[in-house]
Amino acid sequence: MSSLVVVGNGMAGARLVQELLARDPARDRDITVVGDEPGGAYNRMQLSNVLAGTTRSDAIDLAPPEWYAAHDVTLVAGRAVTGIDRAARRVHVGTGGRDGTAAALPYDDLVLATGSDAVLPPVAGLLTGDGLLPGVATFRTLADCVRIDELARTAGRAVVLGAGVLGLEAARGLAGRGLDVTLVQRGRRLMERQLDAEAARTLARSLAALGLTVSTGSGVAGVTGEDRLDGVVLGDGRRLPCDLLVLCCGVRPRVELATAAGLPTRRGVLVDDELRSVGDPHVRAIGECAEHEGTTYGLVAPCWEHARVVADLLADPACGTRYRGSAVVTRLKAAGLELATVGEAHAAGDADDDADLEVVRFSDTARGVYQKLVVRDGRLTGAILLGDTRTVGTVTQLYDRGALLPPDRSALLLPRRAGATEAVESPTALPATATVCQCNGVTKGAIVSAWQDGARTAADVAARTRATTGCGTCRDTVCGLVEWLAAADPDEPAPTRVLDRAG
Ligand SMILES: Cc1cc2nc3c(=O)[nH]c(=O)nc-3n(C[C@H](O)[C@H](O)[C@H](O)COP(=O)(O)OP(=O)(O)OC[C@H]3O[C@@H](n4cnc5c(N)ncnc54)[C@H](O)[C@@H]3O)c2cc1C
Repeated sequence: MSSLVVVGNGMAGARLVQELLARDPARDRDITVVGDEPGGAYNRMQLSNVLAGTTRSDAIDLAPPEWYAAHDVTLVAGRAVTGIDRAARRVHVGTGGRDGTAAALPYDDLVLATGSDAVLPPVAGLLTGDGLLPGVATFRTLADCVRIDELARTAGRAVVLGAGVLGLEAARGLAGRGLDVTLVQRGRRLMERQLDAEAARTLARSLAALGLTVSTGSGVAGVTGEDRLDGVVLGDGRRLPCDLLVLCCGVRPRVELATAAGLPTRRGVLVDDELRSVGDPHVRAIGECAEHEGTTYGLVAPCWEHARVVADLLADPACGTRYRGSAVVTRLKAAGLELATVGEAHAAGDADDDADLEVVRFSDTARGVYQKLVVRDGRLTGAILLGDTRTVGTVTQLYDRGALLPPDRSALLLPRRAGATEAVESPTALPATATVCQCNGVTKGAIVSAWQDGARTAADVAARTRATTGCGTCRDTVCGLVEWLAAADPDEPAPTRVLDRAG
């Protein structure tokens, strides 16, 4: 029997094991998963909803410990892999379990799925001898989320540092719970990696309308408070009193294990198209810790794609599956804010010397709407949909497939404009190849097939295809498709019977 050891029981590691079992139920391979977080795997993306108080922390399990036992997979939870002996093909597991002893696990195949750490900014006073100053928290793990939740119960004023997707979701969630929130961004605009200046201004206005204060152009230089946080000092000298500081300053792939074992790393663990380390064919890396063709990812869709590719290759090394990179679609999960970005749209169109570039924009600031399509050679290379994401399915599909855009580009932004293609926002308008659930790569065609196989509710579709089980922002589209299929099916008595938005 060969043995597989997976290091990291997060979104990528847990999905790999599930994918592998689905391909190889009568397997002749021992599988051990070592995760340094306690318990089983959970949906990290849903932490934003847990923080906002809209989802319970016990409702985000992906695989509880019993699942591993039931599938004959060994789970070593709450303990870290501390070293890799590549010559002997063994990993060392640190103490931390109830027995308190270190262990060595042999492997034939080793998969690193160690994810990322939250980056700690260089802020004076942030760290005490025992870790972060009480009142300060990062936002990456369930433990972080529990900590923030506890602090938020008594805090009146919060500062969130970092206005990327995570910072926005944390700030909106805390404001929704009644805290007085200031979102602080060192750079000049919100979501610098996704938005251009006008989109960022429009978003800032929408945040202000939701009661948040936004401060850009100056980061946090220091924190104040003896034993406990009582304020932050910004780079420009202003002091903001607060009793909670949430750090959302980006992530750094966890490569220390790989580096110490002599595996080639840059930002991530360097892997080839089979997600193998370029320095050792027995070691693979998947998820956020992997670097493929110079790219590391910070979204789940590529991580789950990695898991699919590696499961294919472990189940059948001759299958020929290869990883070729992932398209990136970012969606915000924050009540009252609709935002989706695709590809690279933030910089395009600012310098007007690129004659081959076509930029289509629509802006309705009073309604908080800003939309932008960036087109080169008739094909979409990026898009921002802020305040109105009705056409995101079609836009994403055009981007994913590199398809030629319709001559009337504005129909992609303003589906209800007189004369525009009325159907562009309707599920019927999506081609079968359009990806509906970005996280899991589920197409409209797969959902229609699930319906034909008997799925009659969004929950049924989720069980068969996994659509909606990632970040959850596709839930309305999936429900729309189920309604549409029911309405089109002469044997379905009433469309309302199939509605199940809890999916
Ligand atoms: C609050 C929040 C919201 C998010 N929302 C979205 C979203 O809407 N859409 C989206 O696409 N993405 C989102 N993401 C990002 C997404 O969650 C990540 O891309 C995904 O979790 C990466 O999966 P991973 O397995 O690579 O890493 P992780 O899920 O971080 O898992 C890595 C695991 O490995 C463990 N580990 C590391 N080193 C060791 C070791 N030496 N020994 C044992 N265990 C180890 C870690 O503790 C961790 O449990 C969000 C992230 C957060 C924090």
